[in-house]
Amino acid sequence: MSRSVLITGGNRGIGLAIARRFADAGDRVAVTYRSGEPPEGLFAVRCDVTDSEQVDQAFKQVENQHGPVEVLIANAGITKDQLLMRMSEDDFTTVLDTNLTGAFRLAKRASRGMLRAKKGRVVLVSSAVALRGESGQANYAASKAGLVGFARSMARELGSRGITFNLVAPGLTETAMSEQLSEEQRENLKSQIPLGRLARPEEIAAAVAFLASDAASYITGAVVPVDGGAGMGH
Ligand code: NDP
Repeated sequence: MSRSVLITGGNRGIGLAIARRFADAGDRVAVTYRSGEPPEGLFAVRCDVTDSEQVDQAFKQVENQHGPVEVLIANAGITKDQLLMRMSEDDFTTVLDTNLTGAFRLAKRASRGMLRAKKGRVVLVSSAVALRGESGQANYAASKAGLVGFARSMARELGSRGITFNLVAPGLTETAMSEQLSEEQRENLKSQIPLGRLARPEEIAAAVAFLASDAASYITGAVVPVDGGAGMGH
């Protein structure tokens, strides 16, 4: 199995774990990075997903190097947590633009090659918060819930063309993003997780790899929770 796979935000955290997993399985992996250094040993292109032109350029570079993208993993995401009364309109729209509209830009660009090939796999990284909401995360939860409606619409629109759209909904995972929480918030959230610990990025990567694999050929429009049981399947 050697497919052309593109993972956004693949320079660190969950995205890097996903990239390593596909590379270890023998796929031709490309990652995008926005800032800092590209990860060692992976083909990397600079791209900010809030800019359609940069998304287009990134795809062109990946297509030249590895051929048309057959598997897209939209992982790049941000938080800007704030209680509603203190949340600025910019806090809200920036998170939506990155997490939700970013996925739209990527999926739209990827679908060109996938429609031509009459096959493709798209996995969007949502969040457990999408389904249950969270105080202080109205912008983030709205963006991650929006991904569910987006992916399910795409699953219906493009299913007959051999393209699947699925989502993973990770619970709290050990990355820079969860380190922004206070010790008290982490302990409080941990107490609600039946498995009693945070996820490791590799555990999210395993679910993503499954959804992109032949074993998941008849799964589309699904939300797969990887949350230690916190949401009990929701
Ligand atoms: P990190 O903060 O560690 O990494 C986020 C990644 O997204 C970085 O590579 C970052 O690039 C990239 N990124 C952010 N904004 C943009 C942008 N505008 N354009 C391109 N790339 C961008 O987060 P995680 O690894 O924890 O999160 C990965 C995904 O998983 C996110 O979508 C997140 O919402 C989701 N998730 C995370 C959970 C957690 O507890 N960690 C729980 C549930 C979901 P750069 O290095 O340049 O900043």
